[in-house]
Amino acid sequence: FDWWHASNLQGYAPICLGLEDFYIRRLYLRIQDCFGRPISSAPDAWFDVVERYSNDNNKTLKRTSKITSCLNLGSYNYLGFAAADEYCTPRVIDTLNRFSPSTSSTRVDGGTTTVHTELEECVANFVGKPAAIVFGMGYVTNSAILPVLVGKGGLIISDSLNHNSIVNGARGSGATIRVFQHNTPSHLEKVLREQIAEGQPRTHRPWKKIIVIVEGIYSMEGELCKLPEIVAICKKYKAYVYLDEAHSIGAVGKTGRGVCELLGVDPADVDIMMGTFTKSFGSCGGYIAASKEVIQYLKYTCPAHLYATSISPPAAQQIISSIAVILGEDGSSRGAQKLARIRENSNFFRSELQKMGFEVLGDHDSPVMPIMLYNPAKIPAFSRECLRQNVAVVTVAFPATPLLLARARICISASHTKEDLLKALERLEEAVGFDYFQISSENRGML
Ligand code: PMP
Repeated sequence: FDWWHASNLQGYAPICLGLEDFYIRRLYLRIQDCFGRPISSAPDAWFDVVERYSNDNNKTLKRTSKITSCLNLGSYNYLGFAAADEYCTPRVIDTLNRFSPSTSSTRVDGGTTTVHTELEECVANFVGKPAAIVFGMGYVTNSAILPVLVGKGGLIISDSLNHNSIVNGARGSGATIRVFQHNTPSHLEKVLREQIAEGQPRTHRPWKKIIVIVEGIYSMEGELCKLPEIVAICKKYKAYVYLDEAHSIGAVGKTGRGVCELLGVDPADVDIMMGTFTKSFGSCGGYIAASKEVIQYLKYTCPAHLYATSISPPAAQQIISSIAVILGEDGSSRGAQKLARIRENSNFFRSELQKMGFEVLGDHDSPVMPIMLYNPAKIPAFSRECLRQNVAVVTVAFPATPLLLARARICISASHTKEDLLKALERLEEAVGFDYFQISSENRGML
């Protein structure tokens, strides 16, 4: 079963299945109220959700709204920096006053401020690579960089569950794309062996370049990448490793340096390190960290560097300041405490959910924990019940997951207190009700 092609088809699957007429449309009408609910406060441990009620009895959608203060189990605010911080916030405000919300210029035309150059040095040092380049958006970092790194004659081997920004970047590159089974090093090796053998008669080295793309923590699975094995295979077959650390940088590792630190991989063995600032650093944008030569090449050639307005200076300052706190350069131990807290919170919450009988995906230490609901028809009820219990979770359904693998995704933060987590467990149990725990995992998918 080829997930890559399945994901191509996902948008059309209801049509292919002949279901689109009645059920899918009705289902999506109900589901749409569970997504895009506006938030009217910072995404801290608790936040304010604007709840919209819709009434489609007369086929006219009437909406009314109310604000509910909810325990936030949905944001990527892993270290709690997305809310006001005693060290970061005054510096961000100072940068806003000195510069402005926007540079109103591209990086090459006056959009490189001293904050940008400081940020690139800071990121390179933090992730352990010689140089870095930053972009205004994490999504664009993948989708704009991949076509510059590899093109026709090159080969991309991508994990089957890689993020959409990687999928689009790979497709836009013109390189040949092959997919390996999610987080399965033995299958990656099989694909590499096949691809190298396939091109052998034509040239000595069949591909101009081979890039293997993986994620540090898979955002819909909560799983850690099997990076040591993947790096070893890439070395053996002389393929480059591209690692997207959107969900792992800052969130895991003794000093927050991501999966390399957690799994004992030398950053020198990862050729391209990608990450976003939108999760652990409470800001926006993304980075690529690599050798000086690669970064110089990207600075000369990447359209998203040459033609896009640079990342906002206050947002850049937020990243520099949050990294300073993580590294203890603010003179306090708050960074170390946050890192210890997210680890403890994640491991505690995951094990409690499992003890309660929830079917939870993902690995120890990962702050991302999807709870399987299977049937997308359960999403509206689950989401509404959680909201009634003042708990905000992200529900994920088709086409972001396969049709019958709908789930609720919980993201744990260092800003959650033990009391918050105990309350959340109690309320989740209340929200899912009796039937979830009564149904065996084999049957859940059929409901
Ligand atoms: N890569 C991965 C693995 C992601 O999960 C995301 C989004 N959550 C992105 C890239 C895009 O990042 P951003 O939201 O910062 O644009």
